[in-house]
Amino acid sequence: MRQLSLFPSETSSPRSEPRVATLLREEEIQRPSRIHIVPHGASPVLAARLSSLLREEVEVELTDNAWTMVSYRRVSGRLHFRLHHMFARAHEPVMRALAGFTGRNRRAHGRAIDDYVRQHRELIKPAAPRAEPPLAPRGRVHDLADIYGAINARWFGNQIQARIGWGRRSAGGRRRSIKMGVYFHDHRIIRIHPALDDERVPRYFVEMVVFHEMLHQIFPPSADDDGRRTVHGPEFRAAERRFPGYERARAWEKAHLHLLLRQRS
Ligand SMILES: [Zn+2]
Repeated sequence: MRQLSLFPSETSSPRSEPRVATLLREEEIQRPSRIHIVPHGASPVLAARLSSLLREEVEVELTDNAWTMVSYRRVSGRLHFRLHHMFARAHEPVMRALAGFTGRNRRAHGRAIDDYVRQHRELIKPAAPRAEPPLAPRGRVHDLADIYGAINARWFGNQIQARIGWGRRSAGGRRRSIKMGVYFHDHRIIRIHPALDDERVPRYFVEMVVFHEMLHQIFPPSADDDGRRTVHGPEFRAAERRFPGYERARAWEKAHLHLLLRQRS
């Protein structure tokens, strides 16, 4: 299909490395977090050790956080640390690094903390998968769940396993091109461009777009020896042309593309 994504990216790059240390910003503190506090979340032992190094009052809360291993903030004059529970057994040099991290030489101490985290990374529980955004298959005009279900039964023996929904409407203006649909392999999600949810767009055209996106599950992208990716290989194109509505849908697209390029709000 035409290139130029009008979809807000759904594949924001996953954070692959745990962040070692962050100074929490105010808004992060307010937000309910996904942190699971291990039993006895407060650690008076670590607090006492850090307190004697820093010569000030310290509180320590142990977490099972997957991303932020170390953070601290000041709460009414006291230094409040949140530390991954891997630090419960940290030796003196690491404790010094934690204490030093609140001071001027952040960077050097951060490196020492980083090394410790790397050595104990097997204790980090993988982050819970992000909640998937809700999909809205029922449009004003076309019901994508209905179209998808019928195509899956008729042409794929119900073998396609995906979820489908309308894409979000983007800001107004005239488009130069439009990407009718998109298939996200990782999440098995099909999104159809909301401009197609229009009484002037015939169902058989939406069907062809949905069929196309479903084919992506059957023919995943391939890469040749040079790493060049083929998304719509010859097999894909041949299968696409076998769809009975294909010629008619293509002809409609040629004649009516301008309808889709004009943004309605
Ligand atoms: Zn495609």
